[in-house]
Amino acid sequence: MRSTKVRPRRHKHIPQRTCIACRQVQPKRELVRLVRTADGEVEIDPTGKMRGRGAYLCRQEGCWQQALQGNRLEYALRSKLTPHSRERLVQHGLEFVSQ
Ligand SMILES: [Zn+2]
Repeated sequence: MRSTKVRPRRHKHIPQRTCIACRQVQPKRELVRLVRTADGEVEIDPTGKMRGRGAYLCRQEGCWQQALQGNRLEYALRSKLTPHSRERLVQHGLEFVSQ
């Protein structure tokens, strides 16, 4: 009868995601989602609801720099970042990071 045992419920299920730069696990809503769209561009997804392969970053400048300067984001999204996308993400990213 042990199989019927109900696990104690946590208060609320909070989805957690890992920042691709610092690898810290955080509640999903604390992170910013980046998504690879159907046309191969990489966009910031403020609602977290866009279709496509996603990657998450902390709201910290260091993480954005790390992800965008290296190939971490490309690796996470299995996609090449065009210089244009990269530049756009750097600029948009600054709106999302907490100073
Ligand atoms: Zn991070």
